[in-house]
Amino acid sequence: MTAEYRAGGTDLMERRASGRSTGPLIDLYDRDLRSIDRTPDGGFRAGAMVTVDTLATDPALTTAYPALALTAGALATPQIRRAATLGGVLLQRTRCRYYRSEHYECLKTGGTGCPARGNPGERAVVLDVGPCVAPHPSSVALALLAYDADAEIEDQQPRKVADLYGDGARDHLLGDGELLTAIVLPPPAEGEKAGYKRAIGRASAEWPLAEAVARLTVGDGVVVRAGVAVGGVAAVPLRLPDVERALVGQPPSQELFARAARLGWTPAFPETAYKIPLTETLIADVLAQAL
Ligand SMILES: Cc1cc2nc3c(=O)[nH]c(=O)nc-3n(C[C@H](O)[C@H](O)[C@H](O)COP(=O)(O)OP(=O)(O)OC[C@H]3O[C@@H](n4cnc5c(N)ncnc54)[C@H](O)[C@@H]3O)c2cc1C
Repeated sequence: MTAEYRAGGTDLMERRASGRSTGPLIDLYDRDLRSIDRTPDGGFRAGAMVTVDTLATDPALTTAYPALALTAGALATPQIRRAATLGGVLLQRTRCRYYRSEHYECLKTGGTGCPARGNPGERAVVLDVGPCVAPHPSSVALALLAYDADAEIEDQQPRKVADLYGDGARDHLLGDGELLTAIVLPPPAEGEKAGYKRAIGRASAEWPLAEAVARLTVGDGVVVRAGVAVGGVAAVPLRLPDVERALVGQPPSQELFARAARLGWTPAFPETAYKIPLTETLIADVLAQAL
């Protein structure tokens, strides 16, 4: 059985307790993966063991990538953010209640079907992109998609963070034993602002029903650059290029934000149809927040 990496252990140890992870572990604690460095082009490289708390509070990172800081600072609790790592938050496994219960088999445990599909519940996806109907859990992935960040994998060519996902049947596309070593962010955009909001059933310590993040640069009275991504809605973290295109070149206004946020999705399930207007409202709100 291939060994599984343990970073902060906040997701992994829960899966150990529920019998979803039973093989040997390789601890990343002593690996040299905690540095944050400037890249030659003015961007940043953050090691996979940098904590979520550092992403949310490091002065250089929060100034350069405010959308990243907002997503990292909003998740879980202060204690979890101090233990959880950049690698772990991107590669954490689904929160689907069937996957998390040892009493069921599903596509992600070697089974042949998705038990949630017949009984999705209000937390399931609203956009059906793959066989799994549980939303992808990573909030930080949304910001990294909006920044078009790269992922460094040991002994491989870098790939886009977006290419860590893209297959609704798996939580991420890294193979057994593949080690995420760092995330590389492009040079920061001068004057960029950001917004982030989540719709959540309680004040903290819960994955959101839906969430949206936006980065926005305005110059000469028009939107020069926009990055928008949403979570809680699909089995993969989702960037929204159509929304971004509708914004760029336009004078920013509430009316523009509401128009650009219209998703035109057909709900996958009646139980989750509420997520469409909810997500549209979140997108318009985070754009206004950024402005
Ligand atoms: C109450 C609660 C609320 C939460 N709310 C949110 C939320 O709203 N949004 C959100 O995004 N997260 C949320 N989380 C999840 C939390 O962010 C994750 O548990 C955490 O980020 C995982 O990081 P870790 O370092 O502990 O990873 P671990 O638990 O150590 O690892 C997680 C997985 O990633 C793999 N892995 C870790 N690092 C690497 C690497 N470098 N290379 C290859 N594989 C690796 C491990 O093998 C394992 O499979 C919440 C957690 C809790 C407990």
